[in-house]
Amino acid sequence: MAGLYLHIPFCQSRCIYCDFFSTTALTQRQPYVDALCRELQQSLQRLPADSTIATIYLGGGTPSTLSPAQLHQLFQAISAHYTVSSEAEITLEANPDDLTPDYIQQLRQLPINRLSIGVQSFRDEQLRFIRRRHTAAQAIAAVRQCQEAGFSNISIDLIFGFPRQTPTQWAADLQQATDLGVQHLSAYSLMYEEGTPLTRMLQQGTISETDEETSLAMYDQLLDHTQTHGYERYEISNFARPGYTSRHNSSYWQSVPYLGIGAGAHAFDGTDRWANPGNLSAYIRGMQAGQDIRIIEHLTPEEQYEDYVMTRLRTSQGVSLPQLSTQFGPERQQQFLHTAHPHLERGHLAYDATRTYIYITRSGLYVSDSVMSDFMLV
Ligand code: SF4
Repeated sequence: MAGLYLHIPFCQSRCIYCDFFSTTALTQRQPYVDALCRELQQSLQRLPADSTIATIYLGGGTPSTLSPAQLHQLFQAISAHYTVSSEAEITLEANPDDLTPDYIQQLRQLPINRLSIGVQSFRDEQLRFIRRRHTAAQAIAAVRQCQEAGFSNISIDLIFGFPRQTPTQWAADLQQATDLGVQHLSAYSLMYEEGTPLTRMLQQGTISETDEETSLAMYDQLLDHTQTHGYERYEISNFARPGYTSRHNSSYWQSVPYLGIGAGAHAFDGTDRWANPGNLSAYIRGMQAGQDIRIIEHLTPEEQYEDYVMTRLRTSQGVSLPQLSTQFGPERQQQFLHTAHPHLERGHLAYDATRTYIYITRSGLYVSDSVMSDFMLV
């Protein structure tokens, strides 16, 4: 089994916190879709032989900026070149302002069976602050219309830790999310990435960052609210009702091979990782010329170990000790246990003797960055 990720880098406008590779050059959508179809064709042999695609994820950017005809063209190219499981999870990331009743009906005619909707907040002043194009009412209507149209696997993204956001406001956002009955929730604290307009505002002193204590209290609210409303935390920022974990994202954390198609997309064939440059015109030109523009990344054994431990410690399942030993050798397993020891003593990590896994505990979640950084080798 394998995954397929298609990167759609177009956005109607840019949000002030975003450092993803995306562009507002919407006129390039059709040449880009044509280029994606070419890359889909030339990438088939890069997956292990006889791979069946178990998950497809159209992420961005904003994939819902593509027309239904362009999405149809992509699905035709996928089915022409790949074997897709009849049970495949097929996700489209969408922004609420794109999800008009007509667009939703047209999405229903495509193989998409999961939507990930970029809601971010249910408060208009916060949406305006980060320059989202939709209102809270539009987000609520979009989720409801998708549900009424028959989408039964919907995830929404939320952000917490806005400047001046209160715990009461965050509680209301969480309540609204679960009132909508979505199957999956991804929630992240507002990040101040280098070079973004948001970070410049912080540096100029026009806004102030939410203090760590408030941010941790909001994460605590998130854990409590999701737990009492029947969502399982399966990764630090991801919560799902039973049976609705994101199979695509989970496969990244289990080292399942995946192809990343598109400008800036990453891939992993089970051994090597590679990425396409995050440059729209270079990507389109490269695909038109039939060139291999990939940048191959050869991870050292140490980097592979770090990658393995970091990704798995983020999950509620944790690190399998026998698997760690098989993959990296008994000495590396001993080193892992040595590093884990003080965190086990403090209760930030725990040992599951039945499954022989070490996983991060709830108290460890609040200090997860420092716990995980201890496992870095250099
Ligand atoms: S819509 Fe998404 S990808 Fe586009 S600018 Fe906003 S956060 Fe970034």
